[in-house]
Amino acid sequence: MKFELPALPYATDALEPVMSARTIEFHWGKHEAAYFNNLNGLIEGTPLADCTLEEIVRRSDGVLYNNAAQAWNHLFFFFQLSPKPKKKPTGPLAEAIDRDFGSFEAFKEVFAKAGATLFGSGWAWLSVEPSGKLTISQGSNAENPLRSGAVPLLTADVWEHAYYLDYQNRRPDYLSDLWKLVDWEVIEGRYEDTL
Ligand code: MN
Repeated sequence: MKFELPALPYATDALEPVMSARTIEFHWGKHEAAYFNNLNGLIEGTPLADCTLEEIVRRSDGVLYNNAAQAWNHLFFFFQLSPKPKKKPTGPLAEAIDRDFGSFEAFKEVFAKAGATLFGSGWAWLSVEPSGKLTISQGSNAENPLRSGAVPLLTADVWEHAYYLDYQNRRPDYLSDLWKLVDWEVIEGRYEDTL
């Protein structure tokens, strides 16, 4: 089975000015499309061709892992963004954030710091550990928390291709503006699936 790059649920210019149409055209239309193409080439004719993308991320290593995880991570990243997002979590997720980070504002600070201080390319993650505790982590390159048994809820892509056209070297500014696009309704849904 070939993996097909889905259409985004918003127009390429809908996330401006935080994420320009040009960034989305390259980031989704070129980078993410390349991860899909590489992935399809690598699994063709192998037993993995019948697996889900998540199964491949969990089971693979090396170049296949890099391409499968990048394909998965970008789907997860782009589908949590919206031009009209719910700006704050409510309900069980809001309670868990208060419990584990003190407050939503404190959580946002720690998460943005994880993204800003990751050296080189990678991802900042909010995940649920098997114990139920929420945790923030950094992943280099394609690294994804699924491998350590956690369930990802939210991610920030801090590869330069995610922000360089719009923010150049100002990664912390990109991260603080990214909150304008994160749809907490999506994140709440992901959290509720773990309860
Ligand atoms: Mn990316």
